[in-house]
Amino acid sequence: MSEQTNEFTEWYLQTVQQSELMAYSSVRGSIIFRPDGYELWEHIQEEFNKFLKKQGIRNAYFPMLIPQNFFMKESDHVEGFAPEIPWVTEVGDEKLEEPLGLRPTSETTIGQAFSDWINSYRDLPYEINQWANVFRWEKKTLPFLRTSEFLWQEGHTAHATEKEAYERTMSALDEYERLCEEFLAIPVYKGKKTPSERFAGAVDTYSVEAMMQDGKAVQAGTSHYLGTNFAKAFDITYLNKENQHVHAYTTSWGASTRLIGALIMSHGDQSGLVLPPTVAPTQIVLMPVGPWKKNPGVMEKLDEIFYNLKEAGYRVRLDDSDNTPGYKFNEWELKGACIRIECGPRDIENGHIIVKSRDVADKQKVAFEEIDTFVADELTAMTPRLLEKARKRVKENEYLHINTLQELKEHIETCKEEDKTPGFVLIGWDGTEETEETIKEETGFTTRNIPFEAPIEKEVDIVSGKPAKHTLWIARAY
Ligand code: AMP
Repeated sequence: MSEQTNEFTEWYLQTVQQSELMAYSSVRGSIIFRPDGYELWEHIQEEFNKFLKKQGIRNAYFPMLIPQNFFMKESDHVEGFAPEIPWVTEVGDEKLEEPLGLRPTSETTIGQAFSDWINSYRDLPYEINQWANVFRWEKKTLPFLRTSEFLWQEGHTAHATEKEAYERTMSALDEYERLCEEFLAIPVYKGKKTPSERFAGAVDTYSVEAMMQDGKAVQAGTSHYLGTNFAKAFDITYLNKENQHVHAYTTSWGASTRLIGALIMSHGDQSGLVLPPTVAPTQIVLMPVGPWKKNPGVMEKLDEIFYNLKEAGYRVRLDDSDNTPGYKFNEWELKGACIRIECGPRDIENGHIIVKSRDVADKQKVAFEEIDTFVADELTAMTPRLLEKARKRVKENEYLHINTLQELKEHIETCKEEDKTPGFVLIGWDGTEETEETIKEETGFTTRNIPFEAPIEKEVDIVSGKPAKHTLWIARAY
């Protein structure tokens, strides 16, 4: 697959539709999640819910419609989200007294509820999560990665101390890192956002950023330390041990169906989806080959294997359609089935099946009695193998030694000529917005995050040449 951006995006758009993950809807920028696409999300939910349960964070649900005055209470928040909120202003032929916004995020509604529910230090920490749809009327949209309505989880917590709130901000970020890397096999860069990229109303925003196969970044999850900003706006106070009314410290953190886009762009290939078995709707597909209709033994064996694997809890399918083997291979590769098992009359005679893993070129023979162990081992090995492969790719597209804007421009030119991705570039930054703006205007690169542990520390700002205050990852981004 060429790494030139347009070709890659074109591949992505075709793949998500042809593999039947999604379809376009008639509402601008909104997509339909078809069952395979929705199932990816369900597995992500199951995994993230394990973290929530372990941490004692409970799921709740708040109304989607938010009264206008709620948004007005936190000035940065309203300013940040105002351009993206759709409003409900009338019902039937009656105008509503107060417009209701479709939630872009729920700090406001949940803040209002927290102010009622939190009274004493004994109520803290107060920690909940919501799985919901949210609306942001984005100008440019791309299936899963940036849509006008999307699905996500949003965690909201209130704490007695700054330290506790900060720890929660970090533990949510760590969980996003784990979810991306161990579960979805997507390597991420963890760090702090610059002030200009901060969540509207937050004190600090932290993110995990992933690098796609065309070198572009996807912000895969964000965790916000909100300090007392929302507590002040919504009057979230509590009586501390010294009998004083004080403000709570709050956090919020979210990851969305954008993860599905990141998953596809991280692992997919020319044949279609490549999915880790942790989330793949089809982990194993069985198919008869050769003159199987004349040999009933073939289907008998496949039925038996199918039944055993199903019993063992795998997501397995049997394709006994009349399509040719070539057609079936293509179809299941496109859909990202992790393991394909073929069986024909000759295989029955020889007592084995033919197995092909989606991410490995060679086929292999597996004896009937070894199928269960083989499948278990192969499915366990595949996710770390995909992560390793992605890590290698990401490392190859990291650039650590670009120190001036001129060098950055030359780097981009060279990559273009050589059909390579310009990837992630590590730069020195003097902490000014001017530098961020100049980089963006002249190269299209945007600041991703300030890594907690930079591979090397940069001495000077890439634009101004002044001493660097931070070392920063920049990249083109989705
Ligand atoms: P935020 O509340 O802005 O920090 O967003 C939380 C997360 O939701 C981000 O880190 C993104 O991964 C994701 N996200 C933001 N906007 C969109 C969108 N328009 N479509 C899909 N996912 C989004």
